Amino acid sequence: MTASDSAGLLSPALGYIGGRWTPADDGRTFPVTDPATGKVIAEVPRMGAGETVRAIRAAEAAAPAWRALSGGERSRLLRAWAALMTESREDLARLLVREQGKPLREAAEEVTYAASFLDWFAEEGRRAYGEVIPPGLPGTRMTVVREPVGVGACITPWNFPVSMITRKVAPALAAGCPVVLKPAEQTPLCALAVCALGERAGIPAGVFNVVVGDAEDAPVIGHELTTRPEVRKVSFTGSTAVGSLLARQAAGSVKSVSLELGGNAPFIVFEDADLDLAVSAAITAKFRNAGQACIAANRFLVADAVHDTFVAALAERAGALAVGNGLDAGTDIGPLIDTAAVEKAERHIADALRRGATLVVGGGRHPLGGTYVQPTVLADCPPDAEICCEETFGPVAAVTRFSAEAGAVASANETPYGLAAYFFTRDTGRVWRVSEALQTGIVAVNTGAFSSPVVPFGGMKQSGLGREGGRQGLDDWLETKYVCQGGID
Ligand code: ADP
Repeated sequence: MTASDSAGLLSPALGYIGGRWTPADDGRTFPVTDPATGKVIAEVPRMGAGETVRAIRAAEAAAPAWRALSGGERSRLLRAWAALMTESREDLARLLVREQGKPLREAAEEVTYAASFLDWFAEEGRRAYGEVIPPGLPGTRMTVVREPVGVGACITPWNFPVSMITRKVAPALAAGCPVVLKPAEQTPLCALAVCALGERAGIPAGVFNVVVGDAEDAPVIGHELTTRPEVRKVSFTGSTAVGSLLARQAAGSVKSVSLELGGNAPFIVFEDADLDLAVSAAITAKFRNAGQACIAANRFLVADAVHDTFVAALAERAGALAVGNGLDAGTDIGPLIDTAAVEKAERHIADALRRGATLVVGGGRHPLGGTYVQPTVLADCPPDAEICCEETFGPVAAVTRFSAEAGAVASANETPYGLAAYFFTRDTGRVWRVSEALQTGIVAVNTGAFSSPVVPFGGMKQSGLGREGGRQGLDDWLETKYVCQGGID
């Protein structure tokens, strides 16, 4: 539980169970490293089954009182949490950079985005309306009420280590569901900092619990969270492989499951697109967070007529992006999370080149060493290259040509994933035609940025189940109960 002084920890480096900061039962810890330097910045408890069960029990014990609060009372607490997060924006952003690596500007934007979920659901939770239904049987009155699902388990990834927490926890708490959170092993400190702010805001003991552990502990913690009958809903963001495993485990006790899984987002540029707009959007959609996002553009499909112009402009902009430590002013691209991520980017580049793609800019590891990768653009990439079939999660853009709209849409859909898709056109008929044909939960037309707490975020096919954000995000944490009263003359 020691922490280096420079880490700027904003909480004890401990788990948080039933309103208490707590070490692992056996005192074991694991190191958290700064991906920019490889240095250990803190030691965090390695928790397991015992701590997880206690956290679930604490949440269960807190549930009746939390559920009994009015929507307005829960709203005030969530808004206080959002306000504290906004006040701590700079410190939280710096910690985020230390632990995850993204540029400070992006980290600060993430904190604002994270706070916006607390704010949005503070309001939306007050509108968990039911229905009065004209009676379908004589002498009755028929109503539908919305109730909290019950204790929730939230498992979150490292790439957006603050906002992925509030996107789950804010609707859960707003709906009246206490939660147990298991953050990613790479980024527990952000989760604990968010937790400390919740504690300061007055979130009652047991309503929000954090169980931390290393990669080897995740299956043990995850098993308890998905199989204990007291947990009624599991909300997960991460890989499709783990999401599918958790859904299978949760099936045993028939829990509600929300999954935000992998993507393979197509980014289609039609011949009538505004190319300046498309290139700017491509820089955001591909290189934000060094490409480590499930909504990152993964396959650029560009009309023959504009392929060369688009590639040249994209390569010029990508080549000018500054790679460096996220804490340095002016950095556009920080380090990747670990060496496995670098190796995947290298493998994808080598495979594409072997299959005939052309390297336009970048090409692999950055001279800075460590886990830094050069922003890379590959042109004329064949659609069967690994990079077009798997999520790259790195700053590598692969561009493939197409000749006709139908072919582009067919390629875009030729994947088991269906999270986000982007396309660029000035043709209004095409906007509707292509939006309707794309098999994704999110379609971005003429923009590279669409995230907001007010809209439903989620995928089709193997990209997941359920939606986070928007009215739908609250729905996912509510049960529907039909009440029929008879004997009315
Ligand atoms: P990534 O490949 O992006 O790290 P993962 O799906 O492995 O994605 O991880 C996302 C989250 O799921 C992390 O919090 C991780 O610790 C957790 N996790 C990984 N394996 C399991 C598992 N078997 N059970 C529960 N949680 C898991």
